[in-house]
Amino acid sequence: MNTTASPATVFDIQRIRADFPLLSRTVHGKPLVYFDNANTSQKPLPVIEAMNEHYREHNANVSRAVHQLGEEATAAYEGARDKLARFINAPSRNELVLTSGTTQATNLVAYSYALPRLQPGDAILTTVMEHHANIVPWQLVAQRSGATVKAAPIDQRGELILEQYVAMLTPEVKLACVTQVSNVLGTVNPVREIARECRKRGIALLVDGSQAVPHRPVDVQALGCDFYALTGHKMLGPTGTGALWARREHLDAMPPFFGGGEMIREVRFDGTSFAEAPHKFEAGTPNIAGFVGLSAAIDYYQSVGFEAIHAWEQQLLAYATERLREIPGLRIIGEAAEKEPVISFLIDGTQATDLATLLDLQGVAVRSGHHCAHPLMQFFGVPSTLRASLAFYNTREEVDAFIVALLKVRKLLM
Ligand code: PLP
Repeated sequence: MNTTASPATVFDIQRIRADFPLLSRTVHGKPLVYFDNANTSQKPLPVIEAMNEHYREHNANVSRAVHQLGEEATAAYEGARDKLARFINAPSRNELVLTSGTTQATNLVAYSYALPRLQPGDAILTTVMEHHANIVPWQLVAQRSGATVKAAPIDQRGELILEQYVAMLTPEVKLACVTQVSNVLGTVNPVREIARECRKRGIALLVDGSQAVPHRPVDVQALGCDFYALTGHKMLGPTGTGALWARREHLDAMPPFFGGGEMIREVRFDGTSFAEAPHKFEAGTPNIAGFVGLSAAIDYYQSVGFEAIHAWEQQLLAYATERLREIPGLRIIGEAAEKEPVISFLIDGTQATDLATLLDLQGVAVRSGHHCAHPLMQFFGVPSTLRASLAFYNTREEVDAFIVALLKVRKLLM
């Protein structure tokens, strides 16, 4: 059996894989190698079963009903908030707004926090390596307010140039943003240092945690940021789930963004009053079953343990990187000193999309394209990359199968 022992845990990869039914299917008659985890992760049985059970046994709307089912659904939904708050060590469950994902979270901050504060001449600072979800919302509110969006540079290894980020934290910056982990490069950014510099200058910092939460324990208090956005479907949970953590003082000062049911105290035509945070940001019926699934996903991470996950993923990353480097004409984009298991690359004389299409015929799922990071592609002067993104349920044998398939399709295209 393929196991790795650490003092605290024994990582039983075969037992873990047995929890993910999709991993044992075939694609085009070949065993699936799923290396598109940064796009969305696969879901373990406890997540699938928790959602199934919710619909079979407990389905009702939250908050509005006094009947038993309504109470059960509300307890499950609010239980997910408790679990997520503990998962990222938020000081209070009431600082956690449940959203449909990171995109909704960053848009909420854009319209409810940034827009009311922005004056002509102000700026929002982001970086060249961001996902569009951490660029476009800022552009939209900048256009409305006469502010600008500035992007801190990175170097050729795909590392943020920290001194330049800090130098760009000028008085007109009203919000600073950074991803904790790049979805294209795998780079882990020095968020604590950035947060320290932002606090010195009284600038609020938003961290995009979408690609961090699937791989490492997150402690928003230790990070020292003001906002932390995450998405559930990349961390074993269902699509349409996510969260925004924000410091209480910000949530209290922010006006609601969506209006409707669930977010009010009293509605009158001569003036409506709103519920306290986080409910004032959660208009309408939420994705209740989705958050039931996300709760189960958090339990699953905790049962495996991030120490074991990290050790396994880092071994896989090192092995996959080493094997890829053996391929002539292959160029890895993103060689930061600290990375999560995401490898973007190009092969001379081939197009990333052609490679991905042919790899699919070999049963290998990888992503090709711009990965919702146009400015990063522009920085590297490429239209797209091929991206292999790994998870703790992947294996060295899958890396080997991927390399064999890649060599085969490369030959076909050259
Ligand atoms: N930020 C990063 C770094 C991402 O990788 C993604 C998804 O690819 C997002 C934001 C957007 O997440 P969602 O589409 O779930 O809102």
